[in-house]
Amino acid sequence: QPVAVDRIIAEVIDRTRTPASAKNIEVLVSGDRALTVYGSEGQLVTAVTNLVENAIAYSPENTRVTLGTKTTVGTVEISVVDQGIGIEPRDLDRIFERFYRADRARSRATGGTGLGLAIVKHIATNHAGRVDVSSTPGVGSTFTLRLPGRPPEASVPLPQSVEIKPSSVV
Ligand code: ATP
Ligand code: MG
Repeated sequence: QPVAVDRIIAEVIDRTRTPASAKNIEVLVSGDRALTVYGSEGQLVTAVTNLVENAIAYSPENTRVTLGTKTTVGTVEISVVDQGIGIEPRDLDRIFERFYRADRARSRATGGTGLGLAIVKHIATNHAGRVDVSSTPGVGSTFTLRLPGRPPEASVPLPQSVEIKPSSVV
């Protein structure tokens, strides 16, 4: 089903209001919101919420999280940018594994099971999309969820036989 990106954003802002204000983190929204993606609104809200929850959890107080949207040919990008602790290069390709937590996060007093990003990846894949990360330790991280901006191809069966008419050679 079509899902308005606008609605995803509004729901995510709503769900992350409490942890954000607890750390005086402002969640800003930027980019085009009149976008449509396709699939399960509930799952997509869960995925983006997980990313924003991480951005808040792994950032110091009084920082900003930016929830950005943009569209490029056939793709809708939803990105979550933080000014947090960042991720060491050696951890970058492992954080999407179930139960994996980087050292700095593991040593944090607050809990977490290490499932959030595995769920995000699963949901992205389910929607024919992907999730990518870039990060600089001590500076911040950007997670980008890329989803098809078009409905999945309707599987209309091809006609059993097609008559091919000879055409004149140009
Ligand atoms: P939970 O299951 O509660 O989400 P978690 O946050 O530890 O636990 P993930 O969301 O899967 O698990 O994240 C895995 C690890 O990736 C985190 O423990 C942390 O080390 C790292 N990480 C994820 N997002 C960020 C971020 N925005 N900034 C820095 N590190 C991050
Ligand atoms: Mg998490």
